[in-house]
Amino acid sequence: MSDTARIAMVDELGKIGNASSLHGSGRRARKVVEEAREAIARAIDATPGEIVLTGSGTEANNLAIKGLYWKRVQEDPANNRIISSSIEHHAVMDPIQWLVDHEGARVTWVSVNDRAQLNVDELVDEIERDPKVALVTVMFANNEVGTLQPITRIIEVAHKYGIPVHTDAVQAFGKVPLSFENLDIDALTISGHKIGGPLGIGALIVKKDLKLTPVLHGGGQERDIRSGTLDTPAIRALGVAAQEAHDHLSDRAVRMSALRADLTARVLAEVPDSRSNGDTDTLPGIAHFTFAGAEGDALLLLLDAQGIESSTGSACSAGVPRPSHVLVAMGMSEPEARASLRFSLGFNSTSADIDALVSVIGGVVERARRAGQVSKR
Ligand code: PLP
Repeated sequence: MSDTARIAMVDELGKIGNASSLHGSGRRARKVVEEAREAIARAIDATPGEIVLTGSGTEANNLAIKGLYWKRVQEDPANNRIISSSIEHHAVMDPIQWLVDHEGARVTWVSVNDRAQLNVDELVDEIERDPKVALVTVMFANNEVGTLQPITRIIEVAHKYGIPVHTDAVQAFGKVPLSFENLDIDALTISGHKIGGPLGIGALIVKKDLKLTPVLHGGGQERDIRSGTLDTPAIRALGVAAQEAHDHLSDRAVRMSALRADLTARVLAEVPDSRSNGDTDTLPGIAHFTFAGAEGDALLLLLDAQGIESSTGSACSAGVPRPSHVLVAMGMSEPEARASLRFSLGFNSTSADIDALVSVIGGVVERARRAGQVSKR
């Protein structure tokens, strides 16, 4: 967490008050929540009334997808198709799959090109073929390779047919310019821990007139869209982090892009037969490589032992490592996908961090490749 967000959260943890209570402590907590809501709204260029606070980005995605699906199907049972992309985070893919398995939804996963960018022509064909669609949900930027999606075009196409659009902007918020108002999108997800705020707090930004069926029922908080006592300390800290991310958006982006360019050039020099994936139209803080012949999980553990934490994007199913669905959707073979690794930079990353990675990456890749050859014998 950023220092200011952490200090605000710790201060708030020492105070009492439920923001829904009418007594003095409750009114004080309510003021804190509403000030944070205003800061979040300013950071994303929305109105405070459009911010629905949730317990995570995952929860906000579930609320958008299930809430919109149920509402649209209630309006017209034929509107039971969801269109999404083949590179979504599991926090989008899995609620959609749940609706398919349990609620009679149909789904179309639109393909992406070799840079993980959605094929808009395919989206247009899919909508024209059958415009009875509950919602279109496509992420703003991918979490593994960082690619920004053609979201303006996606919104334009879907709105032409009156279809609401949601975007998972968890990776993009605070990293690239983002205006809820100018996008004219229906719902957008953000999460605290990607911007120097706390874990376990997120928000769904929802257009004022958009009808959503709630997922959580209870005390009727958050305009009756998301019940549950508000987490005032986390909300206050999210407000601080959002304000900071907004105020420093361009200097952080310039710094992170420069660090990433340095990281990429030096890793490619250290391991000349490696490949960098997705360098254009991308988030400033994500670098992604394929080290052919090395197993990603081996690379991850060898780097971890050197104090460098990275991610493969692979999932483990029944004890068997499976390659990332994002990389497979980009057209990578399974061995290529399994030889890939993501490094992500944050607002507080330094050039010393890059030096540390560069000093060990050559040896680590060599060891992982040797280990792979031994295990094949
Ligand atoms: N969506 C994307 C693109 C993410 O990268 C993540 C988290 O990594 C999430 C959703 C989930 O957000 P949360 O961890 O707040 O549930």
